[in-house]
Amino acid sequence: MTAFSGRVEQVSISGIRKVFEAAGEDAINLGLGQPDFPTPEHARDAAVEAIQSGAADAYTSNKGTRELREAIAAKHDRDNGFSVHPRDVIATAGGSEALHIALEAHVDPGEEVIFPDPGFVSYDALTRIAGGTPKPVELREDLTMAPEAVEEAITDDTAVFVVNSPSNPTGAVQSEADMREFARIADEHDVLCLTDEVYERLVFEGEHHSPMAFAETDNVVVVNACSKTYSMTGWRLGWVTASERRIERMLRVHQYVQACASAPAQYAAEAALSGPQGVVDEMREAFEERRNVLRDGLNDMGLDTPTPAGAFYAMPRVPDGWCEAVIDRGVVVVPGDAFGAGGAGHARISYAVNVETLKEALEIMHDATESVR
Ligand code: PLP
Repeated sequence: MTAFSGRVEQVSISGIRKVFEAAGEDAINLGLGQPDFPTPEHARDAAVEAIQSGAADAYTSNKGTRELREAIAAKHDRDNGFSVHPRDVIATAGGSEALHIALEAHVDPGEEVIFPDPGFVSYDALTRIAGGTPKPVELREDLTMAPEAVEEAITDDTAVFVVNSPSNPTGAVQSEADMREFARIADEHDVLCLTDEVYERLVFEGEHHSPMAFAETDNVVVVNACSKTYSMTGWRLGWVTASERRIERMLRVHQYVQACASAPAQYAAEAALSGPQGVVDEMREAFEERRNVLRDGLNDMGLDTPTPAGAFYAMPRVPDGWCEAVIDRGVVVVPGDAFGAGGAGHARISYAVNVETLKEALEIMHDATESVR
């Protein structure tokens, strides 16, 4: 019998692709989830050197090179207000694999995974692939996830809740008070808090806080990656950080699906994480300027847009037919319901393009908005 598994049959290819296919070849693409900057030179150089010296020819340790895991542990000390032993880190094939092994290791068939709605598309799909039951929760008016909403959604069957700040698709940043609450909920309800921090360094107002810094139990797993912070989406390098026993369980999955993260990418990531961080500040400043241009432009059109405090997405409320009208005119945006039912009536607009292109796109959006009013 060559039937497909029920878990995989429940998952479909992301709706975002369809939008790209609908737009013409010279469309302005505000649909992409990747920075438009080059990978830092010193990260590229480290990979080239590792390739040319032969250092990157062989498998590394399953968890990743010792030096990379030391760089990640030092990064948590420097940026995140908590300390971990390099033993308690696994380097993965991007944040995507990190989310996958975390859910595979913690979710039994029939158990529930709570996540924000609208939220990053992988939370729903990877929950189903792990045999779990997705439990999306509605967001607040400002597009952050309320700890009370998570607490209310928890049942005896809940295994995990996902926190994502700054958020894809909303750009919203959770407050320190919220993050403390998420840590408390993980502790008190004995449920795992899976915190996806891949946009952590792209915060314009306030500061990023990790529930890992506040939890008293080991009920937190951190997912992070070099993808967005260092404009390294193509390198496929992320990681999970957790307690020793949780790392050991996730390693059981990682060892068999991946063996180890790509060795050249590990050398590049080590250099990115431990090298000069000015490149990240420059990117963040450029994103902030674009964020302001986009938010002001959308608000001027009368589209209600909460100020996105991080990442590189805005999520305005839009009239019926708006996304189609914009896409027809040659600007790619993603309809909000591609990120869950809670995204209906919104659009996700990525501002990983230069200001000039953004202004051109805003004129087209203005025209489209007039046409659907
Ligand atoms: N988490 C969020 C919220 C994302 O937006 C993405 C990518 O778009 C990922 C994780 C996965 O990142 P990576 O490219 O490192 O697999």
